[in-house]
Amino acid sequence: MYIIHSNKIRAVLITAGFISIFAIGWADYETGLEMSFSIFYMFPVIIITWVANMWTGVLASLISAFIWGTADRLGGHYHSYEWIPYWNSLVRLGFYLIVTFMLSRLKTGYEDRIRLIKDLEDTLHKLNVSRNELEGKAKELVRSNAELELFASAAAHDLREPLIVIGGYVRRLHKKYKDVLDADAGQLVDTITDGVSRMEMLINGLLSYARIESKGKGFVWVSGEKILDCAINNLGHSIEESKAVITRQPIADLMVDEVQLSQVFQNLIGNAIKFRGDKPPEIHVSAELKNDEWIFAVSDSGIGISPKNFEKIFGIFKRVHSKTEYPGCGIGLALCKKIVERHGGRIWVESDTGEGSVFYFTIPAVKQPEVTA
Ligand code: ADP
Repeated sequence: MYIIHSNKIRAVLITAGFISIFAIGWADYETGLEMSFSIFYMFPVIIITWVANMWTGVLASLISAFIWGTADRLGGHYHSYEWIPYWNSLVRLGFYLIVTFMLSRLKTGYEDRIRLIKDLEDTLHKLNVSRNELEGKAKELVRSNAELELFASAAAHDLREPLIVIGGYVRRLHKKYKDVLDADAGQLVDTITDGVSRMEMLINGLLSYARIESKGKGFVWVSGEKILDCAINNLGHSIEESKAVITRQPIADLMVDEVQLSQVFQNLIGNAIKFRGDKPPEIHVSAELKNDEWIFAVSDSGIGISPKNFEKIFGIFKRVHSKTEYPGCGIGLALCKKIVERHGGRIWVESDTGEGSVFYFTIPAVKQPEVTA
């Protein structure tokens, strides 16, 4: 604001400053002893130092002190000693130089501050531009994600219909002609039936995955205990069959989509049963409140997972073990991940081959509103 950028204006002000030094000197000489001009010599020095630079200010100080001293002597002022005017000029020069140095330091500091403010404004502007771009991209991503989900959901839905028809007909064909068909043909029909069932399973998985957002319910306060009970009840048959022992810690009330969270527990406990070793599975479900989030852990005594597959298993249709050994289509953990992320949490695993596994997931801990009577 106080810095003049136009070279023309600066040249005019500097020239005017030097001319006014001579004009003040002439007025000082003309009025002799009667009027004091000391302060007037100061103005051009200040203007020149501020507009030009320190060395031009030093030159202006020298000229001012010289002219003031000369006007003093030529004006015929009386001094008790002859050297007093020279001494006075020297004191004035010292004073001007101090002012010049201080002013130029002040100006440097001021210019630095202006530059800093300008840099800050530029950075702020760039940040705003990047933020707007990011917001635009995020909106675009949400839109294209929703579109993709809709597409996957529609495609899976439409693919399921003809597949159900094919499956039904193949099964009927097998039933009707099983006595007529030879062993090779029977095996062929079995392979087709298997393929169709597997494809049905994949398409159903894809449909569930694509519908997590669109068919998900709003978050409400639900009993964590009830959610876990529901998951364990749904697994009743395999728990009984595998003689699984499930231990659990109490779970507090949670602000979640009840059905989806129950599905997470069901998938994790179901996997703990499915990927068991030779002994009946021992499964423990725990919950810990830490840094404003609930950390749930489902640990098992099963076959474990090699650390190199930790990332992979959460991908859609990604499996580590063969489908003949352990049935499945690789959608369970991908579903868990998507559900947990929909709730604002994370999911990960700690394990090693033959060491059992611990699947962790977090859910943000929301403060429960107090019920007033
Ligand atoms: P699926 O169970 O249908 O194979 P998931 O997505 O649930 O699909 O699991 C992906 C893979 O992660 C599984 O194929 C298996 O290799 C591995 N896995 C998951 N849970 C466990 C577990 N508790 N113990 C060992 N391996 C597991």
